[in-house]
Amino acid sequence: MGKIMVRCPQTGRAIETGMEMDAARFQRMPVFFSRAYCPHCRIYHEWFAAHAWVAASRHGESIEVA
Ligand SMILES: [Zn+2]
Repeated sequence: MGKIMVRCPQTGRAIETGMEMDAARFQRMPVFFSRAYCPHCRIYHEWFAAHAWVAASRHGESIEVA
């Protein structure tokens, strides 16, 4: 399992979406649309799955999906 991450459009920093999923499973999912709370801007950003990636917690590396 890895944390689904997206990039903040305002600060360019990675933010956690609060979702967790296997990278392989995430890549098989149809394109979806969601919102994530950004601690940098203190607002919710809307994001597409195509812009998200899975942070693999086991090896401390991230897998770029987009
Ligand atoms: Zn932000």
